[in-house]
Amino acid sequence: MPNPACTPIAGLDVHRLPAFADNYLWLLQSGTRALVVDPGDADVIDAALRRYEITLAGILVTHHHPDHIGGVPALTATHACPVFGPGDTRIPGVTTVTGEGDVIRVDGFPDIAVWHVPGHTRTHLAYAISGAIFVGDVLFGAGCGRVFEGEMSDLFRSLQRIAALPNDTWIFCAHEYTRANLAFAAVIEPDNAAIAERQAVLADGAPSVPFRLVGERASNVFLRCDQPAVRERVADHVQRPLAHPADVFAALRQWKNVHV
Ligand SMILES: [Zn+2]
Repeated sequence: MPNPACTPIAGLDVHRLPAFADNYLWLLQSGTRALVVDPGDADVIDAALRRYEITLAGILVTHHHPDHIGGVPALTATHACPVFGPGDTRIPGVTTVTGEGDVIRVDGFPDIAVWHVPGHTRTHLAYAISGAIFVGDVLFGAGCGRVFEGEMSDLFRSLQRIAALPNDTWIFCAHEYTRANLAFAAVIEPDNAAIAERQAVLADGAPSVPFRLVGERASNVFLRCDQPAVRERVADHVQRPLAHPADVFAALRQWKNVHV
């Protein structure tokens, strides 16, 4: 599967902008205007705006972690644009507080549906447009975010909700963690051919994001907690029965936290 630096989605060109060690910032281009998701580094965004000769029409923030919001003050100091984000005092510069069920409308862009997807952080949002969703640190290639705030069950429900989107949905996440996640997935499901195939495809080191949901269903063990092979492997590890997929998920996430 190709992992293009620019993905056409709903009439937009979505550009992948690497930042820091393993972050991806996302720039959604419509003609000569752009929205950006999680601008952790303003210099990366400004360089892209110059490269494509476009102006900044808005900023979308998924959650408060510094590598997602660090560029907001510098960008809003030099670009007059709205900042959409959750109502969270840890996020400076939000001009339009958004939450579950809201629809963001910016001239020239398709409607953007706002989802509240707690678990990684309490106020984490995802942004959905036709055929794609920007998930921040909730879902990663073959993995998921850590639970820093709230309950394991929060992240489980958030992931289940994303997993219910159509198979061909493009997932835009904020970190390149796919290879390490696949290595862990292969420990959980050593007989899963989809995991082995994905490892082979990614062996050349090329970026793995965005990816389509259908591949996650096949190879992301955190979306496969209802599978008997996953349940039995995790139950064997924790030496107790796990009745519900949410229990499997919690034990699996804790295992991953300490896996080397
Ligand atoms: Zn985060």
